[in-house]
Amino acid sequence: MLERIANAARACGRAPDDVALLAVSKTFDADAVLELAGSGQRDFGENYLQEALAKRTEVGDRRPLQSSGRSQADGGGPLVWHFIGPIQSNKTRPIAESFDWVHCIDRDKVARRLSEQRPDALAPLQVCIQVDVSGEATKSGCDPEEALALARVIVGLPRLRLRGLMAIPAPTDDPVAQRAQFARVRTVFERLQAEGLAVDTLSMGMSADLEAAIAEGATIVRVGTALFGARPPRVPGD
Ligand SMILES: *Cc1c(COP(=O)(O)O)cnc(C)c1O
Repeated sequence: MLERIANAARACGRAPDDVALLAVSKTFDADAVLELAGSGQRDFGENYLQEALAKRTEVGDRRPLQSSGRSQADGGGPLVWHFIGPIQSNKTRPIAESFDWVHCIDRDKVARRLSEQRPDALAPLQVCIQVDVSGEATKSGCDPEEALALARVIVGLPRLRLRGLMAIPAPTDDPVAQRAQFARVRTVFERLQAEGLAVDTLSMGMSADLEAAIAEGATIVRVGTALFGARPPRVPGD
């Protein structure tokens, strides 16, 4: 996967280091996370809160850190956990307490709650605004025109740090249509930068469309099936 990302970056004149891999481990078990962590992967993404919390506990128990903070098993530092699923506003507290990043903020109510509930002992929560560029009825994310106002709210919140934008375009096999959607995200991103906001992250691109996303400036690609294989069915109720 790192080779695929590096090739996509080079193909559009970017440095492979500019694009980070977020391993989307939803529905995969702690063994899968531990195996990938053993090969050096640090960033993991989860969509479902209860599943994520149980998995983190199991991974933490089986991957003891030495007092230096380095893991005995793989010589690496702590894992970085990203929440990438939709957020219900009554579920913000456990997210604020146990994740490093949240990619899918789409309204100021959720942003304010996450900031209020982020424990002082932890670093500020790193967040992205999810923008909807799919034009579909089943949208998730804010309208592109609302992103600037939401960004201004977030930069005023003490326990959040705005990093950039995230998007999930409508699925299509057509690379031209893929790029057109990612280009819309990039346009919003550049508008935030032009307004003086210090954003550095474009979280976009998944197993099927990461080349198009990288060509439009993605700095984090979120990859599940192309890393772990087909997803097993999920236990309902989360
Ligand atoms: C599941 C998921 C992914 C990974 O999708 P794949 O097609 O398996 O690579 C990325 N981002 C989000 C928000 C997801 O829910």
